[in-house]
Amino acid sequence: MTKDKTKLRVSAIQNGTVIDHIPAKQLFKVIKILSLDKILEPITFGTNLDSERLGKKAIIKISNRFFEEQEINKIALIAPTAKINIIKDYQLVEKKEVRVPNEIIGIAKCVNPKCITNHENMTTHFEVVDKNEIALKCHYCEKITDQEHLKIFNS
Ligand code: ZN
Repeated sequence: MTKDKTKLRVSAIQNGTVIDHIPAKQLFKVIKILSLDKILEPITFGTNLDSERLGKKAIIKISNRFFEEQEINKIALIAPTAKINIIKDYQLVEKKEVRVPNEIIGIAKCVNPKCITNHENMTTHFEVVDKNEIALKCHYCEKITDQEHLKIFNS
């Protein structure tokens, strides 16, 4: 029954991407980091939906938009439970789990105000040292940026 419901929701767009299983409180962060507030394609979202795993979850459906791996990595940093469904011609053609990558390049800002990346025009580079709680170790200053202090650059 749950499966049929999911299918119905997913089938509602012709082509595009459905981001499901977002923790409800992270919905607006996902919208922000993907700059969904700036795109012109139709977007629908639902939030505070019941989820066995998450308590309350959110779902976003974006028509005619497919995401690059770099963008999906951004989602993983704030909503590691998210599932990406790729829809073509009303069919679910691909299901992807977001994965927290080993390295993050140019997505997040280093927490250290003295870090060279905050002063020079250069790309940030982190090693992910904790994939569950999210902790990023800066390649340049070695300071740890945790999820609470994580600032994501807008693309
Ligand atoms: Zn740094």
